[in-house]
Amino acid sequence: MESKKRIYIGLLLISLAALIILIPVIGLLFRQNTQLSKVILAILAVILGGFFLLLGLGILAIVIMIIRSKTIPSLDNIAKLASELLFPLTLVIGKVLGIKAEKIRSSYIAVNNNLVKSKHIALNGEQVMILLPHCLQNTECPHKITMDINNCKHCGKCCISDLVELSEKYSAMIKVATGGTLARKLIKEKRPAGVIAVACERDLSLGIQDSGSLPVYGVLNCRPNGPCCNTSVDIEKVEQALIMMCKGG
Ligand code: SF4
Repeated sequence: MESKKRIYIGLLLISLAALIILIPVIGLLFRQNTQLSKVILAILAVILGGFFLLLGLGILAIVIMIIRSKTIPSLDNIAKLASELLFPLTLVIGKVLGIKAEKIRSSYIAVNNNLVKSKHIALNGEQVMILLPHCLQNTECPHKITMDINNCKHCGKCCISDLVELSEKYSAMIKVATGGTLARKLIKEKRPAGVIAVACERDLSLGIQDSGSLPVYGVLNCRPNGPCCNTSVDIEKVEQALIMMCKGG
């Protein structure tokens, strides 16, 4: 397994271990020596034990699916649940360990992309949506591409032109979203069966968590001018993602 993915998997395991150690310790600190409190503690211990077991199974499923490059449909939801529930804790533990949030989010996206790949989905181009952030557009461009990306005049000053051509090559939908609310609205309206999302680490990780069972493959944008201004994306990476989703990888 690549080191990029190992960061998130490692933090998932540490997060689970922290929960397993911390929660019983807190329970013991607030323990009262009555019969009722003992019963309540016993019930809580059983519930938490089952919950931790479920999270552990989810992490194990993620590791197996990545190593085998093949999904385990019966464990898919548990894997997603474990990752979603533990993700905020991985950021907290990462901070304690001195790992930058951006690095953890990037590792999370790499793990997610591997899980999407492991599904070997084979969609028609029309079922795939390429979802882009507005910051890819050149800031001096007067054309309103958020309403309709076909307003792009293909002047070549930003990568929107290449991305539109790529979407046409694969007959995929292509949309520009100014934020998470619009992205959710577009997905609800167009109902794609798969999404290739381009964004920064933060927006991608939030979007992936928000996606439920919809496969979302994340491609990180390049930010040579800092965040949210004249950003770019590696067109080849977007095309590779399209090939993977359309042909089943
Ligand atoms: S390529 Fe399209 S979106 Fe980009 S600056 Fe030119 S006209 Fe505007």
